[in-house]
Amino acid sequence: MGARVTRLRQAASEPTLQVDLTAVADNTRRFVSWARGAVMAVVKADGFGHGLGDVACTAVAAGATWIGVTSLAEGVRVRESGVDVPVLSWLNPVDVDVRTAVRYGIDLSVPSLDHLAAIEGGVRVHLQLDTGMARDGAAPESWLSLMSAARRAELAGRVSVVGVMGHLPCADTPGANEYGKRALLRGVEMARQAGLRPSVRHLAATSAALTDPGTHLDVVRIGAGLVGIDPSGTTLLRSALRFTAPVVQVRRVAAGTGVGYGHAHVTDRATTLALLPVGYADGLPRSASARAEVWLAGRRRPVAGVISMDQVVVDVGDDEVVPGDEAVVFGPGDGEPTVADWARWAGTIPHEIVTGIGARVRRNVR
Ligand SMILES: *Cc1c(COP(=O)(O)O)cnc(C)c1O
Repeated sequence: MGARVTRLRQAASEPTLQVDLTAVADNTRRFVSWARGAVMAVVKADGFGHGLGDVACTAVAAGATWIGVTSLAEGVRVRESGVDVPVLSWLNPVDVDVRTAVRYGIDLSVPSLDHLAAIEGGVRVHLQLDTGMARDGAAPESWLSLMSAARRAELAGRVSVVGVMGHLPCADTPGANEYGKRALLRGVEMARQAGLRPSVRHLAATSAALTDPGTHLDVVRIGAGLVGIDPSGTTLLRSALRFTAPVVQVRRVAAGTGVGYGHAHVTDRATTLALLPVGYADGLPRSASARAEVWLAGRRRPVAGVISMDQVVVDVGDDEVVPGDEAVVFGPGDGEPTVADWARWAGTIPHEIVTGIGARVRRNVR
């Protein structure tokens, strides 16, 4: 009984996401030393789920000299975290709040003539070119008119064109960046002929930064890599997350017991089931149910049945588990499942796992 009380006291009391910023710092330093130019730390989507301000400050302290975000609101949060390097926001509506951009000193991307027309106040802008994705950015047939309009806007004091940017659609595939590279350099040349003098050309994100130095140009925009995700599969980076949950209930069941909704799992022997208070609302994808495992009582254990919104059942066989024991949903890789495992089980990419951790999971940063 005494041992049991001690174990309860030591255990995590609620689902917790532990963020190890030393991993983010290490990863940042590696990109800073590899990059031919500067490193822009991309902290969109709450710093890939790791905490926008924490990741931004950590990356800047480790040598990143730019911050990249999607929305202007994220850029404001970066500024409010005390970061004073240039910040670029690249996905905004045409009626973006230009005064906020000016007040907080945030660069805006310009992906179209409509966007350009709405900008004033001398905002620093980056012309955003579609370099092969048909997603964001100006289509090639509009580049010429965009460049000359940007030059007129610059002469009128409405904007200052500091950059030209593109994005690569297939950077995980070796040799697939040639079109995008040529397109961006063609766009830069057109900008110069229009009289613009952009000083930063940027194209590469994590994959291209790791595998194709020819794409580095003046700045590489690194998001996934900062938090230990390498989409190119070439480089071992440090994962920063450890997601734990306490066992809240334990039951012994007979062979032939249906577990959870729809009885998707039926026990084939007498076994012990442990309940964890985390589910798909906390970021455990329901689609991973049939393959998922967690670390509990010294080894990996299969999830039994379907992951519910708030709960998941784990089969621990004949091993002893008590309420309060800590389960590791995923961790940096000391035997416990990893973010990459969860992504594979769910048929997705690690990015979706790390950005999908629910708001009610406690964050614990160190
Ligand atoms: C998200 C994003 C990045 C960062 O990509 P990673 O592969 O996560 O490094 C860079 N550029 C743009 C335009 C993005 O949207």
